[in-house]
Amino acid sequence: MPTLFTKIINREIPAKILFETDSVLAFQDIHPQAPHHVLIVPKREIPTINDLDRETAPLIGELFLAAKELAARFGVAESGYRVVMNCNQDGGQTVFHLHLHFLAGRALTWPPG
Ligand code: 5GP
Repeated sequence: MPTLFTKIINREIPAKILFETDSVLAFQDIHPQAPHHVLIVPKREIPTINDLDRETAPLIGELFLAAKELAARFGVAESGYRVVMNCNQDGGQTVFHLHLHFLAGRALTWPPG
């Protein structure tokens, strides 16, 4: 059963796509928590951080390179932004297809709720 994000990757569910490479897709979050809230996902289905291994770990670098690209595009590289990856229930993960949240466009409080 494909994940929700795989359906977005395959264009079976619509999303505002902002960035794509062979291995990564970035699209707007449907419930934005900041003026810029983008989900950056590997095209390969990996459920959580706990499922990463030596073979798949380089994909994390690809997610961060996509975040860097988005920051430049939104003009927030200097003003700042946040990237977050939730893991499992207490981490607030609701979609079990690894993803990096990219948040920008307002001052983000720390610690988060
Ligand atoms: P998580 O809670 O797993 O870290 O993040 C999942 C994110 O996916 C949430 O921020 C949620 O708003 C977003 N989301 C859930 N369903 C959809 C959808 O159908 N389309 C898009 N673009 N985002 C979604």
